[in-house]
Amino acid sequence: SSSGSGSSNIRRKPVIILVVGMAGSGKTTLMHRLVCHTHLKDIRGYVMNLDPAVMTLPYAANIDVRDTVKYKEVMKQFNLGPNGGILTSLNLFATKFDEVISVIEKRADQLDYVLVDTPGQIEIFTWSASGAIITEAFASTFPTVVAYVVDTPRSEDPTTFMSNMLYACSILYKTRLPLILTFNKVDVAAHQFALEWMEDFEAFQTAASSDQSYTSTLTQSLSLVLDEFYNNLKSVGVSAVSGVGMEAFFNAVETSAEEYMETYKYCLSLT
Ligand code: GDP
Ligand code: MG
Repeated sequence: SSSGSGSSNIRRKPVIILVVGMAGSGKTTLMHRLVCHTHLKDIRGYVMNLDPAVMTLPYAANIDVRDTVKYKEVMKQFNLGPNGGILTSLNLFATKFDEVISVIEKRADQLDYVLVDTPGQIEIFTWSASGAIITEAFASTFPTVVAYVVDTPRSEDPTTFMSNMLYACSILYKTRLPLILTFNKVDVAAHQFALEWMEDFEAFQTAASSDQSYTSTLTQSLSLVLDEFYNNLKSVGVSAVSGVGMEAFFNAVETSAEEYMETYKYCLSLT
């Protein structure tokens, strides 16, 4: 690999965009939109699908986990249920991930971004050995950022918003990578309320106080804790369906990649 500054062996390009989020938040649809945007703007993208169980993809993937592991066969062979099958398939794929990295390294000069779709169920990627192996393999070779996709309409409920933010927070601490809160589905509900809640915890507490349950009291206390977390994030509103927010998204990716280079400038290697 190249070592421009002498102290780092991380290349500046391409930037890896890990698209993660709760099931149904719109990761795959957003991937499709991002791919369309790269085509429109002559951005050089490379597209990867890491969901072994997806039936059909709306975009064309350059690298698809399904070409290497057949999750239904893995289920049969190891006598597993659907979740075990997906997890084991991703584990099998992770053992060959150095090959994936070399493929990207060979093309690095011709690429601006690598877009990575992850399994529907978030914990299969974020709380598994293979997810950690894959994330580290990327992050030790290229600038890597996490796009945490939020289902904005569903997050209008303060308690749901809080649990989603806590999950994003745990991913930030686990990966230590720049994280972009990507409020999706703004065609259905604008993300202004979320920006206000992140900006002003009292506004959030007021919204949460309509419900005097134990959870609500806890939610209010946690909002103070999350205040610091919000300070370290970028947030953008997008719609995978209407296509708004794409410029803002890629701007946030660029800033995050700069942040990544700044953070890991003095690292010889992350591994
Ligand atoms: P994933 O499980 O995170 O990959 O989510 P999908 O991409 O499969 O999307 C889940 C559902 O949300 C689908 O019915 C999508 O059509 C819908 N969806 C995704 N993005 C948007 C959006 O920006 N706006 C609206 N209205 N629906 C969306
Ligand atoms: Mg998906």
